[in-house]
Amino acid sequence: MAIESINPATGKLLRSFDPLTEEAISQKLALAAEASRSFPSVPLEHRALCMNKLASLLEHETDEIAPILTLEMGKPIHAARQEVAKCATACRYYAENAARILAPEPIATENSSYVRWDPLGVVLAIMPWNFPFWQVFRFLAPALMAGNVGLLKHSPNVPQCALLIESLVRRAGFPRGSFQTLLIETNQVERILADPRIAAVTLTGSVPAGRAIGAQAGWLIKKSVLELGGSDPFLVLPSCDLDAAVETAVRARLVNNGQSCIAAKRFIVHESIYDAFEQRFVAGMEAMKIGDPMKESTDIGPLATARIAEELEAQVHAAIKDGARILTGGQRMLGDGNYFEPTVLINVPRTSAVYREELFGPVAMLFKAATLDEAIEIANDTPFGLASSAWTRDPAEQQRLVAELQCGAVFINAMVASDPRLPFGGIKHSGYGRELSAAGMREFLNAKTVVLA
Ligand code: NDP
Repeated sequence: MAIESINPATGKLLRSFDPLTEEAISQKLALAAEASRSFPSVPLEHRALCMNKLASLLEHETDEIAPILTLEMGKPIHAARQEVAKCATACRYYAENAARILAPEPIATENSSYVRWDPLGVVLAIMPWNFPFWQVFRFLAPALMAGNVGLLKHSPNVPQCALLIESLVRRAGFPRGSFQTLLIETNQVERILADPRIAAVTLTGSVPAGRAIGAQAGWLIKKSVLELGGSDPFLVLPSCDLDAAVETAVRARLVNNGQSCIAAKRFIVHESIYDAFEQRFVAGMEAMKIGDPMKESTDIGPLATARIAEELEAQVHAAIKDGARILTGGQRMLGDGNYFEPTVLINVPRTSAVYREELFGPVAMLFKAATLDEAIEIANDTPFGLASSAWTRDPAEQQRLVAELQCGAVFINAMVASDPRLPFGGIKHSGYGRELSAAGMREFLNAKTVVLA
């Protein structure tokens, strides 16, 4: 089947690509394996030079690159520009910090001993469409700086982004084969991962995809990192700055047209401020400007694919059937494109399947809590554990939230966001392992113990 780039704002086919043949895949694997033998000996300073060049290309060509993201997956053009700029910050972070992170770590024993960090080799990166550049760059920047080699299997709806990333890496001066895009279908992944020349795999995507890749990697005894999305809570407590909390809540739910793993999806509000929050939150959701993502004034564009929109609508219908109520929105919008109304649901029963699912689009669930204990209990009552945002000015409450929320990151009085300097990743069904920072770089390194007696 052809790999098709379709504009989600119009439903029109932009470009179509044939998946790679087995022979072409085999050539690319051979090239990656060859690169993985020579690339680690390229001096770190040279790799940093290339990584900084890559950052400069992203910065100088933002206006040419950003429209491709928007055309392929529908994010507003201003958000696409921010994404490209953020990729440059990751490149610069690792160009500047790789020497520190990769420096041997002396350890006091009766002998001379230390840990050195060696690259693992060829890493397969299976990536999603929602941040078609950022998801890839947060893998590739640390991987290439560490001397690993990357093979990218991107989502089938963003092939132009995938090819563009490969060409930018080449133009930045990285050696041939150090980073290649594989335009392939899902059923071609199993053979590639099983190939002995692949050392490890990283996947960002859904739980079913994570299960499939994690199971295979486990059986093959290959290192894996899984970043599988979330149903992040946003807790609002009486002492908070309500204006800031509401404004951030709307932004945190609708970031990237609602399609972000770290978007706030469940809003848990103390009963003493619930009514005020609900009324202002609904007003904020209704005030969003939905439309052509190529227009600067647009807040929310279409969902990335027709399937995502259909699945989201089915989830909303299921919640209603189970007893939930809609305060605003609730359906796909008529006309071309995969537009979905910003939606607020209340009274979603705990027995509803939707209560435990990720809503990957502009749909918020609101819950009322009588106490801090109850708020934390609801927040943790999910199979996911990616991140949490909690709003309170009470230091004792802040400490409890930091300690008791079961997730990979807690942001107090701030919206959850990834940052190259901070570890990123989750627990429970949100996956395992970390991306970004030193922790992310070390996921695909061999901590080799050296003892010199
Ligand atoms: P998927 O998890 O299906 O896709 C993510 C990536 O994994 C794609 O490259 C996909 O390729 C690949 N993939 C999926 N299954 C397999 C498999 N068995 N073997 C190898 N590769 C695989 O996400 P979708 O795009 O279908 O979105 C569905 C849901 O996933 C969303 O509604 C959301 O809940 C979640 N999601 C979470 C993201 C996050 O940021 N954590 C990002 C995107 C989605 P292919 O499509 O060719 O199978």
